[in-house]
Amino acid sequence: MDFFRRTLLAGVGSSLAMPILPSFANSFAYDLKAQRIAENSYVIVGETEFFTMKNGGNIVNIAFISTKDGVVVIDTGPSRRYGIALKKLIKETTGQDVIRVYNTHFHPDHFLGNQVFGAEKIAALPKTIAGLKTTGEGFSDNLYRLLGDWMRATEVTIPEIEVTFSSEKFGAHRFEMLPMSGHTDADLAILDHHTGVLYTGDLCFLDRAATTPHANLSKWYDSLKELKKIPHKIVFPGHGPADPTDRSIEQTESYLRWLEAELIASVKSGKDMIEAAKMPIPKEFQSIKVIHDEIERSVAHLYPNLEEKLLPFVGQGNK
Ligand SMILES: [Zn+2]
Repeated sequence: MDFFRRTLLAGVGSSLAMPILPSFANSFAYDLKAQRIAENSYVIVGETEFFTMKNGGNIVNIAFISTKDGVVVIDTGPSRRYGIALKKLIKETTGQDVIRVYNTHFHPDHFLGNQVFGAEKIAALPKTIAGLKTTGEGFSDNLYRLLGDWMRATEVTIPEIEVTFSSEKFGAHRFEMLPMSGHTDADLAILDHHTGVLYTGDLCFLDRAATTPHANLSKWYDSLKELKKIPHKIVFPGHGPADPTDRSIEQTESYLRWLEAELIASVKSGKDMIEAAKMPIPKEFQSIKVIHDEIERSVAHLYPNLEEKLLPFVGQGNK
């Protein structure tokens, strides 16, 4: 009996000293797969989920384009480990080195792989760079909390090239810079004139609910209107699959317009934020991934401003 107790206690002791970690802790390896969507043009489509320890933040869309001068990369993922996996995949797929990286905007799933490529090769809109300087570390800290060891050795790397030019040409590919806003203060869409692929960053989502922590909805609608007018063959959104039919532009707009109208109606009928978040989802949006979670977040992001705008001021000095 003593023997068993001692063995049991020894077992307990050792398991306390070395806790059994969940199986994903053994690898921390991203399984990235390139998908060809046009001539010389490859994309990695992230999971349509929120950041979890299981996905390591692989929830974002990345693109790379092989040109005669080198590879052009659009966004770099959520961590240094992701950046390393991306660089390896680019080399295996194209046999080439990276010549240019664009960051579409300052959200952490899009830029925290930057350090692997070198700041001197990375270009972003001036307001994106300013945003990264003030908020980049905070974003990074937050992902360390959410993703733990997936983030090991990740450091914020600020792009050194300001996108103040209208286009850049690498080999046969002319990349037109389309500075816009609405998802954030500065959203860079990019049109590859050689292939007709329109890379929109998070101005477009497809079958994954749009995120709104830095949104200005009226500017976002203006940008979507502009995107629709630009001649293109395929849209590659920031989240969700490549889109040859513009469904990503249309769905993002109709989702945001529905969400805004629901929130306005809720404010006007005096609902609080918790009640407002319980809005019924119309059939056309029911299959959109993480919609319930994102609606809760969007209520937190957008409701206070709408209340301020729409509710009559009642307070001191009001006669
Ligand atoms: Zn974003």
